[in-house]
Amino acid sequence: MRPMLVDRFGRPVDGLRISVTNACNFACIYCHMEGAQPTGREEQMSPEEIGRIAKVASELGITKIKLTGGEPTVRPDIADVVASISAVEGIKDLSMTTNGSRLADLAYELADAGLMRVNVSLDTLDPDRFKFITGSDRLSDVLDGIEAALDAGLRPLKLNMVLLKGLNDREVWRLVDFARSKKAVLQVIELVRAPGVPEGVFERYHAPLKDLEAQLVLRAIRVVRRELQDRPKFFLPNGAEVELVGPVHNTAFCAKCRRLRLTANGKLKLCLMRPETLDLIGPLRAGASDEELKAIFRKAVAMREPFYKPAKGLYRL
Ligand code: SAM
Ligand code: SF4
Repeated sequence: MRPMLVDRFGRPVDGLRISVTNACNFACIYCHMEGAQPTGREEQMSPEEIGRIAKVASELGITKIKLTGGEPTVRPDIADVVASISAVEGIKDLSMTTNGSRLADLAYELADAGLMRVNVSLDTLDPDRFKFITGSDRLSDVLDGIEAALDAGLRPLKLNMVLLKGLNDREVWRLVDFARSKKAVLQVIELVRAPGVPEGVFERYHAPLKDLEAQLVLRAIRVVRRELQDRPKFFLPNGAEVELVGPVHNTAFCAKCRRLRLTANGKLKLCLMRPETLDLIGPLRAGASDEELKAIFRKAVAMREPFYKPAKGLYRL
């Protein structure tokens, strides 16, 4: 049995969300950049360094790794990054969140390197709206990327849609149908007011998920709650699957959070919403042993606190 990291609030930690770059070829109006506050002078971690961190994490009981960014696929060596992690024993789920724009070229290479599945961000199927939201006119590349990912066996494929008031909130059912036609799961994500989100965006575009949830409850033939962040998943009679992500701003969401984050410049980040980080890459580059790196992971887990806390003490998990 592998050792399990558990924080002071009784929350096990078995996931690591690794930001592999802060660079992106899109400029989404709402982007939180995974809580990074880039200075523009960051040095990226190499595939070997990321592989070493994944090995240490795996020995501590981390079994799920998600690559994110910025946009992971803008790194020319992204397949090497994937290969360095997939070589690590004990990683049972290796996935990537991507805007999909480069997947048409990369899907097979990434699958060969050991990537298991992808989440592709897709907020709209309307080209003008897509351009407004992402600052890019590459909707057709994203749609080709989705096909390529399916062909390459990167499944289950999930589509991430951030719900935006007045922009795409009337398009949800169109995206539900599109996802179903691709045998993909649609994840509808509530807009988060996280550090890094441009001023005024939340006030202007935030739409609560509760109306959609009420509609899904009426239509669903089955509802399950995923352990990860207490997400409800709805199975519709036509075979569509819709998962709701959020609201982040509540204690139930934080209670079920099982992941640490690693920033693109090699710092462990304890929570999307909090600024605290612990440097991992500095000690690694200075020659730290695996045991010393594990001690930094353990310290990070010991410092971990839910952003929205329960009224008192431990969670009942
Ligand atoms: N570039 C990749 C992408 O777009 O999928 C990976 C990085 S992106 C920061 C990861 C996910 O966070 C995307 O699904 C994106 O839609 C979501 N996201 C970004 N900013 C957000 C916000 N303010 N609220 C909710 N979700 C957000
Ligand atoms: Fe942010 Fe991803 Fe959009 Fe890039 S594609 S701006 S990282 S949400």
